[in-house]
Amino acid sequence: MRRRRNHNKRPYKRTFNKNRDYQDPIYSQWRKDVKARDKYRCQWPGCLSDKKLQVHHIKMWAHNPGLRFVLANGITLCSRCHKSVKGKERDFESFFLKLLEWQMLDKIKEYNEKRRDL
Ligand SMILES: [Zn+2]
Repeated sequence: MRRRRNHNKRPYKRTFNKNRDYQDPIYSQWRKDVKARDKYRCQWPGCLSDKKLQVHHIKMWAHNPGLRFVLANGITLCSRCHKSVKGKERDFESFFLKLLEWQMLDKIKEYNEKRRDL
């Protein structure tokens, strides 16, 4: 096991973005899929903006390589709401997971209502 260097004074952000390739087709497809699922709206309660949309990793990119391109690990936020989460990602994990759970329950309700009308 490699020992973590604690004398590394480089800012966290640089390491964080170092290996992220926004042009990677898998990454851009993941972002498209999350936005489509969220109907191209910021998912922050009460915001619902459709401008400057970004996709947030609920479980952080840097710490969860296996979840980087998992649909359920992404949520659409506008750049303003996304900024308010920066640096506090861990605190927001369960909040965003709850939002997705509600979103799913809404979809089930919608589906059942449609079926009832058939
Ligand atoms: Zn927003």
